[in-house]
Amino acid sequence: MPVPTFSSRLLAWFDRHGRQDLPWQHDATPYRVWVSEIMLQQTQVATVIPYFERFMQRFPDLETLAGASIDEVLHLWSGLGYYSRARNLHKTAGIVHQQHHGIFPLNIADTVNLPGIGPSTAGAILALSANQRHPILDGNVKRVLARHDAVDGWPGSPAVEKLLWLLAERYTPNKRVAAYTQAIMDIGATVCTRTRPRCVSCPVMDDCAAYRSDATDKFPVKRPRQSTPLRTTTMLILVDEQGSVLLQQRPPAGIWGGLWGFPETDAHDDIASWCDQHMDCKVVATESWPTLTHVFSHFRLDIQPLILRVSRQDQAVMERPGTVWYNARQPLRLGLAAPVRSLLDKLEGQKENHVTHC
Ligand code: SF4
Repeated sequence: MPVPTFSSRLLAWFDRHGRQDLPWQHDATPYRVWVSEIMLQQTQVATVIPYFERFMQRFPDLETLAGASIDEVLHLWSGLGYYSRARNLHKTAGIVHQQHHGIFPLNIADTVNLPGIGPSTAGAILALSANQRHPILDGNVKRVLARHDAVDGWPGSPAVEKLLWLLAERYTPNKRVAAYTQAIMDIGATVCTRTRPRCVSCPVMDDCAAYRSDATDKFPVKRPRQSTPLRTTTMLILVDEQGSVLLQQRPPAGIWGGLWGFPETDAHDDIASWCDQHMDCKVVATESWPTLTHVFSHFRLDIQPLILRVSRQDQAVMERPGTVWYNARQPLRLGLAAPVRSLLDKLEGQKENHVTHC
């Protein structure tokens, strides 16, 4: 008796457990399968079914869709999201109407050239509607293959994707391609799920490399973390003769929006002139503190604190809008960003140390 192959086990499983009653499986014309495949991109089967049925009632064939207005197509798509899919469907219907006499092309080269149809969707349309032998490689299939063959590397990288296509090609049978295509999609959607795959119900469990090494959670390999971009800023900590520190309110949008902080500048600016022109202060001494790093979700900020001992030219001018001279001994109720708070604490600690040592 021949050893069951990957595809024969999937087909046997499909005959017993696969989904065989989906609306687009009845009268599986290229037009109906195409519309269903586009709707199923990024959307689950249960959500797609009522949209598919309404769409088919209004646009039962490609010619009706080609003759409709885009507004009407978008109206029937409302709520399904990713509206470029609807625009591409409408555009493709027009192209097929004009260039292919209204008959959906049944060869891979023409199909893959149509708007919104990549190699996997093209393969699925031709396999499911015409039983042509083409591999498919959607997200679910990538997951099954990456686990079954313990494919190392992130599937989004070109080299790994190429390897997955080779596996998809190798496993696709010569016969019953439509059933096999539906089977591998079903396995990915219902058994080899993203989290907690139901391996004991899987027909390819016996030779699944990820299952055998108890490493189903390691495959597919996750996208490598992007290195976090680095930004830099210089915080000017202006301290007057009384020990008050200048704070400014930040704009409402952006990092620390609306909180109070130190003036910031580019390290290359002429800081003494800036203090003179903008703050009516003369810098009498400067001191550079070690760099602080603050980590945000999407970047790292290296903060260079610069202590500027200043003499204020006009003590009468206490405050301008959005500006305060902050005295830590009579603290105001201001929202302070975390690094600003820690720098103020450090400054205050320095003053106390200074008093103690005197
Ligand atoms: S055995 Fe588990 S991990 Fe392997 S293909 Fe089947 S469901 Fe996926």
